[in-house]
Amino acid sequence: MSTSRVLLTTEERGHFQCAIAKRDGRRCFYCGRNFKKRPMRRKTLDHYIPHRIWPGWDVDNLVLACEGCNVAKADALPWPLVWLLLAVYRPDGWELAA
Ligand SMILES: [Zn+2]
Repeated sequence: MSTSRVLLTTEERGHFQCAIAKRDGRRCFYCGRNFKKRPMRRKTLDHYIPHRIWPGWDVDNLVLACEGCNVAKADALPWPLVWLLLAVYRPDGWELAA
């Protein structure tokens, strides 16, 4: 399931949260805080690769994040992705085949 709308319905949000929890567990992707143990802690859907680069709601690009981590990350590129890009970049081109 994916949608290009900016806002999700409550139903869609629930669907994504369930799908991601099944894949990653009910924890914050960044700090590992368990949402099950602290149900009052707000969990949010975060675009792993920022929305402006990968727009839309694709479950492959979504993770669960606590509100603090989501706000802290904001629109930044995740560091592991930056490292990956730096590792494969060569001045004369990209090592990865298209
Ligand atoms: Zn967190």
